Order: sequence, then C-alpha cells, then structure tokens
Amino acid sequence: MLDYHASPDLLNDKVILITGAGDGIGREAALSYGAHGATVILLGRTVKKLEAVYDELLAQGSPEPAIIPLDLQGATKQHYLDMAETLKQQFGRLDGVLFNAGHLAVLGPFEMIGEDDWDKVMQINVKSQFLMTQALLPLLKATPNSSIVYTSSGVGKQGRAYWGSYAVSKFATEGMMEVLADELDNTTVRVNCINPGATRTGMRAQAYPGEDPATLRTPQEIIPLYLYLMGSDSQHISGQSLDAQPDKIRPRARQ
Ligand code: NDP
Repeated sequence: MLDYHASPDLLNDKVILITGAGDGIGREAALSYGAHGATVILLGRTVKKLEAVYDELLAQGSPEPAIIPLDLQGATKQHYLDMAETLKQQFGRLDGVLFNAGHLAVLGPFEMIGEDDWDKVMQINVKSQFLMTQALLPLLKATPNSSIVYTSSGVGKQGRAYWGSYAVSKFATEGMMEVLADELDNTTVRVNCINPGATRTGMRAQAYPGEDPATLRTPQEIIPLYLYLMGSDSQHISGQSLDAQPDKIRPRARQ
C-alpha cells in the first residue's frame, strides 16, 4: 500500500475528523487529507499544536479546517454528544473519522502494571473511541460511504512481553473494529484498522529511546494507506486490519 497514489481530488467536499491531529502521524494525516481536498476537523489536547496544523493547512491552500480542543482522558459521553451536534450544525455531514490519538503506557512487567496506568490507557485508547464512535454514528450513517479508521499496532495482533496495557488496548481496538464492521455490514459505513508499523514519531522514540530515528519511515511515507481508507477507492473494504508497512512485518515464530 506504500505505492498507492491518491488522485489530487480524492477527498474533495469531504469532512474528516482526526483525533491526535497535532503531532506525529495524525498531523501528517491532517495535512495530507487537506491537500487532497478535505475539510479537516483537528481534535487534540494541545491547542498550540492544533493551531500550527491549522495554519499549515491554510498556507498549503486546503479548505479551512476546524479545531476541537479535547483531552480524551477527561472527556465524558456528554462531550462527545455535544461535539456530534456541533459538527451536524456546522457541516451537516461527516465522511470519515481517523481515530489516531494514543497513549503509550509505562512499559514493563505485567505484574508491575499500576491500576492508574491501566485505567488511563484504557480511557484514552479504548473508552474514548467507544463513546466517540457511538456519538458520531448517526452522522456517519447519514453521510453516504463514510469511513471509520481505528489505529492498531503490531502488539495489538500478537502480544509481546512488557507492552502491558498498551498492547491490551490495541487488541480491544481491533475487537471494536471487527464487532462494528460486522454490525454495519448492511450500511454504507465501512470500518477498518491501520497498523502504522514502526514510524518516526515522538511515541516511537519514547518506546525505543536507543533507536536511530533515521532508520524508520516517516509519517509522510506511510500516509498512502491512510488516504486509501478514507477515499472512494476503498469503498468495498470493511472489517480489515491493514498494515501501512507490510514489507516490514516479520512473523514471529512461537517456540
Ligand atoms: P505521537 O505521540 O506523535 O502522537 C500522538 C497524538 O495523540 C498526539 O497528537 C497527542 O497529543 C494525542 N494524544 C495523546 N493523548 C491524548 C489525549 N489524552 N487527548 C487527546 N489527544 C491525545 O504518536 P504517533 O503519531 O506515533 O501515534 C499515532 C497512533 O499510531 C497512536 O494510536 C499509536 O498508538 C499508533 N502507533 C504508532 C506507531 C509508531 O511507530 N509511531 C506504531 C504503532 C502504532 P499531544 O501532542 O497533545 O500529546
């Protein structure tokens, strides 16, 4: 999928919400969706970063974006319902949601996982997605051929020692995608997961502090799959968990 070439007008007239749009992969997705014609709704917790992406979108000639400042850790069901109502009033449609924001847990032995850390990871990586999806579904169902994309991880497909609550949260994300895709089978809403693979971002550097970032692909290099799943070329794809860097996937043998 690294060689997918999106047409320049792939996302013309579409309204797409991105969580964690201020940094890393989410920032790149916002700039890329905007460059392909979408009106991008930038959701995140650090307003300065969102404002910088907003300015970049305007500077590159993309449709005027919108900003939703929201900390997923503290957000409640009512926040998401209010947000859905605001989007309905302001835009009248929602063509796609990229659930990209994520929190990396403290990595370490399973026996050492703190209850607070577990709750924080589950709140940001799982519960917020559940509540936001519920709130946005009426708008997504009312918009023809809308697309929901969740963000998974290699450790959300095969558990790995010391990845604790983060890995469990990504398994839950895969499960949410499968349940929802099956349930929405007779609608035009499609639901899929992306595993970005090792990508040069702040989160990756936090997880692998000794790694040379120059050896990793950049968010820009993995963005073709993000474009593909938001545009009409993937209209028939649902219930899939796709790797943005399939050439880097090495199956691990179990002894
Ligand atoms: P970054 O750390 O660069 O970006 C994460 C984004 O999520 C930031 O914009 C951050 O906001 C936002 N975020 C975190 N917590 C919250 C919160 N409580 N409320 C609102 N926003 C929040 O990470 P990546 O770009 O690398 O990660 C993007 C996704 O890809 C994540 O889901 C991650 O798990 C997944 N992933 C990444 C891989 C990689 O190698 N990079 C590999 C596999 C999966 P802020 O900037 O304000 O902190």
